[in-house]
Amino acid sequence: MEYREIELRQRKNIVLVAHDHKKRDLLEWAKFNKGLLANHRLSATGTTGKLLEQELGLEINKLQSGPLGGDQQIGAKIVEGAIDFLIFFWDPLEPQPHDPDVKALLRIAVVWNIPVACNRASADFMISSSLMTEEYQRTVPDYEAYRKRLTGGGEGQ
Ligand code: PGA
Repeated sequence: MEYREIELRQRKNIVLVAHDHKKRDLLEWAKFNKGLLANHRLSATGTTGKLLEQELGLEINKLQSGPLGGDQQIGAKIVEGAIDFLIFFWDPLEPQPHDPDVKALLRIAVVWNIPVACNRASADFMISSSLMTEEYQRTVPDYEAYRKRLTGGGEGQ
């Protein structure tokens, strides 16, 4: 398969999401890492974003609440290339009404090779990586061949 590269700038587009029982974890983590997070553009699902703004005093672009479509909004932004980094503290012990959206978001993040931290340890390692403050070439498969395979080489997406 062919690959192509997408450039991540020094200032990255980070999106943060936490399920209800994981919000405290995310808030503590974000508070500890406020200085590092302040160097980037931050978005979050609705409730997570509101809590983060209160806790950090940083500007957060707030999307819809997760169960109301926020996860799907993030997925769409990933496809458009508007998200570089996903911090998603999902809850492994509680069923979620928007479970299909959660699965879809995690899937699309892998399709586009987005770094994803699903727990505090992963988030710690990732936020402290020197790559966070550097430009980075994110490699994604060149899906052109895939599109052609589906359309027989003709027009279409
Ligand atoms: P919330 O959404 O930040 O609006 O609570 C998170 C989620 O459940 O996906």
